[in-house]
Amino acid sequence: MINIQENVLLAPLTSFRLGGQARYFVDARTVEELKEALEFAKEKGIEFYVMAGGTNLLISDTGFDGLIIRIKISEIAVSGQLVQVSAGTPLIKVVNFSAENGFSGIESLAGVPGTFGGAVRGNAGAYGTEIGSHVDEVTAIDGKTLEIVKFKNEQCDFSYRSSFFKKNKDLIVLSATLKLKPADATECKAKVMETVMGRTKKGLQGAKSAGSYFMNPKINGEQLLKEFEQEKGVAARGGVVPAGWIIEKAGLRGKKIGGAQVSEEHTNYIVNTGDGTAENVIMLVSYVKQQVRDQFGVQLVEEVNYLGF
Ligand SMILES: Cc1cc2nc3c(=O)[nH]c(=O)nc-3n(C[C@H](O)[C@H](O)[C@H](O)COP(=O)(O)OP(=O)(O)OC[C@H]3O[C@@H](n4cnc5c(N)ncnc54)[C@H](O)[C@@H]3O)c2cc1C
Repeated sequence: MINIQENVLLAPLTSFRLGGQARYFVDARTVEELKEALEFAKEKGIEFYVMAGGTNLLISDTGFDGLIIRIKISEIAVSGQLVQVSAGTPLIKVVNFSAENGFSGIESLAGVPGTFGGAVRGNAGAYGTEIGSHVDEVTAIDGKTLEIVKFKNEQCDFSYRSSFFKKNKDLIVLSATLKLKPADATECKAKVMETVMGRTKKGLQGAKSAGSYFMNPKINGEQLLKEFEQEKGVAARGGVVPAGWIIEKAGLRGKKIGGAQVSEEHTNYIVNTGDGTAENVIMLVSYVKQQVRDQFGVQLVEEVNYLGF
């Protein structure tokens, strides 16, 4: 039996700590509960929106006039050579569990906050590893028809921070299996620990943000690419440069509008300094995009998802 609450403040449920109220809110702890929640939205004739860890989400100050379904289905098990994971499992738990069971491949995703389902949907990645490369099969439910469908890896259309599920808004990831390499558990755990420590050192894990705000852009101008390569001493792979580099170049490090700021530590992070609003973030993001476009002819595209705008 699901417990649908009314007028729930969403800000505390997001890493940005921003956002107004949801008209209705429910935690779905099983697939049956999720189905019940979807039926509720259908009966009421209201929109639903799935959120999970809330770590890649900017919710408007006016909130959402529908049903928020928070995915809390959390199960993990080894099945032969595969690791089977439900969508609401925290990603760090998946990374640790895989390492402890002697499966290698996703150690460098340690410290990417949020859930497994959120990571699969957005093809989360860090230090050259993307979750999509390790997915064997995804099980998803169509939020409108309630049909459950399985997708083999090649049907998931994984690409840089994207997937078939991101492009098809009605699809909700229920679970997925990971195909990882058998390896020495002690070595896997050491790699996880090293990754976590590296991230902690950067000092951004606790910031009120949603991680990297923009996707790294592909640059067409020869001159800009040359400047990047000269400054950094590395080649821009496939003509792609870090979004943070170009934001910095536009002179926007530390730029602030209200309580939203381009992080001093990492220029691709927009942080809520504590008294920010979602509107402040939107204004700052528009300014950053406009400056980067005007100065370099580069159109930045958000990695962060929007709700209620
Ligand atoms: C400090 C910090 C560091 C970060 N570092 C990284 C990084 O290194 N690499 C990286 O890739 N990301 C990073 N992120 C972003 C974020 O952690 C990832 O995008 C994460 O995978 C989002 O998962 P979530 O559960 O929090 O999703 P949410 O923020 O809850 O949702 C994000 C989007 O996914 C949808 N969604 C969530 N669950 C499901 C589901 N089961 N089915 C369908 N749709 C779903 C939501 O509707 C929403 O549109 C970082 C964020 C923070 C705050």
